[in-house]
Amino acid sequence: MRYKLDSNGRKRVTLIAGDGIGPEVANATRRIVDATGVKIAWEEREAGAEVFKRGLPSGVPPETIASIKETRVALKGPLETPIGFGEKSANVTLRKLFETYANVRPVRELPGVKTPFAGRGVDLVVVRENVEDLYAGIEHMQTPGVAQCLKLMSKKGCERIVRLAFEVAVAEGRKKVHCATKANIMKLTEGLMKRTFEEVAKEYPRIEASHIIIDNCAHQVVRTPEQFDVIVTSNMNGDILSDLTSGLIGGLGFAPGANLGDDVAIFEAVHGSAPKYAGKNVINPSAVLLSATMMLRHLDEFAAAQAIESALVVTLEEGVFTRDVSPAGSVSTTAFTDRIIANLGKRSERWRSRDHKALRIAPLAAARDYVRPKSRRTVGADVFVESPASPDELGRSLEAIAEGSPLRLKMISNRGTKVYPNNGGMTDCVDHWRCRFVLRDGAASLDDAALLRLVGTIATAHRWMHLEKLEELDGEPAFTRAQGED
Ligand code: NAP
Repeated sequence: MRYKLDSNGRKRVTLIAGDGIGPEVANATRRIVDATGVKIAWEEREAGAEVFKRGLPSGVPPETIASIKETRVALKGPLETPIGFGEKSANVTLRKLFETYANVRPVRELPGVKTPFAGRGVDLVVVRENVEDLYAGIEHMQTPGVAQCLKLMSKKGCERIVRLAFEVAVAEGRKKVHCATKANIMKLTEGLMKRTFEEVAKEYPRIEASHIIIDNCAHQVVRTPEQFDVIVTSNMNGDILSDLTSGLIGGLGFAPGANLGDDVAIFEAVHGSAPKYAGKNVINPSAVLLSATMMLRHLDEFAAAQAIESALVVTLEEGVFTRDVSPAGSVSTTAFTDRIIANLGKRSERWRSRDHKALRIAPLAAARDYVRPKSRRTVGADVFVESPASPDELGRSLEAIAEGSPLRLKMISNRGTKVYPNNGGMTDCVDHWRCRFVLRDGAASLDDAALLRLVGTIATAHRWMHLEKLEELDGEPAFTRAQGED
């Protein structure tokens, strides 16, 4: 069940008003939703700045977690991480706690909102992977001068986000899904998403599926945004691309979002707490309101969602705007909200809501958590070393160390570019070296004992800080080559 009912048959929703402008946009939204007549049992809970200030480092109290666990659905205003309190964002905590792996951000041109793209019919959805990639937050200073952030992407993570993107297309009657990746450079991580997309696309033959390189996607989205319908992408790419697409339709005041998982859905605007406007009754509540229409569809309240969308559009067509759209001649947040409520039940002559069906969020079978190859063979190792030596000095030293071992030094790279044996490049080296050892000719497979003996010997002469095995899975290398490596 995607949602729960209370004893009076009302649909239960956890409401987190949030910080800054949060209470104003949340209250405006609640008034409009209630005015449609849908039966929602709102459960108000806290998260964000005040909670951090009370000394709870996560910013999310146990009562809030318990409520969302119970209701399965939350509508949330923006949350701040006040400087000096807590290290983690309460937003990221909520996303990770409830494994809301998909961030769905639709943008659609609205009447009267002037942008350089007005009249082009922008109407697209960015589906961003929400829990993996560089946002795993696994970072290390590998040497005092070199930092590392791990980009982790799983087959399961790629499969569920890609599948959800196709399901968004099906639910909204959309025709195309683009998968935007940087697979040309990151062949294993971003490439995993591309390959998974190509597999899953076969299950949706009625939807046109294309891959696009993310940088070209950014360029195309600005040149001809009307060509896009659904764009699925990894976490970091999607973070940037979805803010860009918000700009196409008039900015953050109109950009809604949903964080979806197998069990829980959290609806929130893309924007933050805009503290300078807090309490001034001037901000635009549309982004949270449109997030609430996504929530209503999740609650199977399609008519109420459509009524709110229509009332918002009619209000904008009447020329009633908040300050962000029309600095001269704007109305207050309260007056804008009152006007939308007065327009409930009216339909625009020109603007049509999309026909929505329930979005299918099908959990993947547990068996897919682990990918089991038919064969695997360890063929070498990358040993990461910190050293002030030159590439030639380090190379000669490591070759001498590997003598008598089943492994030989194949090459050394510096930040990904091969520098030993020297192939004539002009790389400006730092003190962080990736030293690639491979099995000598004729050896069948590398055992851990031989590898650890080699690392132990390296440690007598150099400071090593990281070890990565090189494997072949089903006969294919499960690692990439360095720039310049043959
Ligand atoms: P922001 O709060 O989104 O505000 C940036 C600017 O966007 C505002 O100054 C305003 O532009 C415009 N804006 C945002 N919401 C608007 C609305 N509803 N109506 C009209 N204009 C709106 O971004 P920020 O200033 O970078 O972040 C402030 C705090 O929010 C930070 O603590 C951040 O961590 C947090 N944050 C939370 C979330 C979340 O909870 N999901 C998301 C992002 C940021 P003008 O100045 O041009 O008028």
